[in-house]
Amino acid sequence: MKKPITLLLILVAGALFSVAPHSLHAQTAVPAYSIDAIRYATVPNFPLAGLIPGAPADQKIDLAMVMWLIRGGGRTILFDSGFHRQKFIDQFHVTDFLSPDKAVQKAGVDPASVTDIIISHAHWDHMGGIDLFPAATIWIQKAEYEYYTGAAWQAGGRHGGIETEDVQELVRRNIAGKVREVDGDDKEILPGIRAYTGARHTFASQYIRVEGQPAFVLASDNCYLYENLKSHRAGATFLPADAPGNIAAQRRMIELAGSADRVVPGHDAEQFKHFPTVGHVAHIR
Ligand SMILES: [Zn+2]
Repeated sequence: MKKPITLLLILVAGALFSVAPHSLHAQTAVPAYSIDAIRYATVPNFPLAGLIPGAPADQKIDLAMVMWLIRGGGRTILFDSGFHRQKFIDQFHVTDFLSPDKAVQKAGVDPASVTDIIISHAHWDHMGGIDLFPAATIWIQKAEYEYYTGAAWQAGGRHGGIETEDVQELVRRNIAGKVREVDGDDKEILPGIRAYTGARHTFASQYIRVEGQPAFVLASDNCYLYENLKSHRAGATFLPADAPGNIAAQRRMIELAGSADRVVPGHDAEQFKHFPTVGHVAHIR
């Protein structure tokens, strides 16, 4: 008689103090995330035709090199991590360079306090800063992780724009238990932050939607410039077979954000005019 009651009490207590808080946590209201764009460098005189197919051959633009900071719910999240390797600074004649760990300090963030980094894709200028944020958990598409740690380096593989040291750091982080693979399209990464795929800038690039009033889509290189959105043109780095997919993805980004105004492109300096900006930091929301 006594035993079943004790068992029942344990079960009830367990449900109250263990199971309930967990399931509540999974369904908690989405944090009121703030979103900032941080400009950490410029690649001057970049050929526009390298971003928008068919642009006049002599037209050049200054590429903004950007990472995005999302804060809320006790987390400090980066979408992309920039780069810091000297060879890229030299190769692309980079100006106004601020190492990503210094750049986040411009937004009042201690680099050691970054909890999560969502990587849009594995290119050197997006994944090249992960080693500067050693405490962070890295979120990357499962197929992107698998391809660039494997088949990309086999015969017939493609690894243009992928830096070997970044891949090695990614593997080290995985071994340390600090990589989370995001498996495909329309997946919630953190409460209110969802990842989307659909076109191949790299093997499995992703962009995110940050829920809130209002919602925003951070496109990274899945949409380089406002002009791509406006003229419905794929990014120039998409293979011809992937261009329609990229155009469809851009249309979907506008739907997900609720307005083209709230899709934030990957390399457009205009975002630092579009949103209130102080120094290196544009306050998106
Ligand atoms: Zn890029």
